[in-house]
Amino acid sequence: MSCLFCNIVSGNIPASTVFESKDVLAFRDIAPQAPVHILVIPKQHITSAHEVHALTPSPLPAIFDAIHHIAEELNLSDAGYRIVTNVGNDGGQTVSHLHFHILGGRSMQWPPG
Ligand code: AMP
Repeated sequence: MSCLFCNIVSGNIPASTVFESKDVLAFRDIAPQAPVHILVIPKQHITSAHEVHALTPSPLPAIFDAIHHIAEELNLSDAGYRIVTNVGNDGGQTVSHLHFHILGGRSMQWPPG
């Protein structure tokens, strides 16, 4: 299995898990860009957000349930936080398994680089 995040789902590569449900896993980013930096992924291999439109049932409700839960647990909801998903090379995607970054704990800048 060559996909890094599939290997994290299967337990072959360790991760600092913060949330797990039947279909979703969330763990701390190995190179955090903010005081809180979590990656939320579907356990199912989906290459990027570009593929989501064709999927029935949609993986998005379970992912956004997880994001809500994590933001509450980590006390991000009052101050706010950022959700990012990068698509493809120009989007800055380096791991080809759909993931949503949760970034929080500091004020974010805009526009992104
Ligand atoms: P992206 O560049 O949007 O594809 O995001 C991929 C993210 O995965 C980056 O923020 C990396 O720091 C993170 N990452 C890479 N390898 C690992 C790992 N083994 N455990 C946790 N996060 C990782």
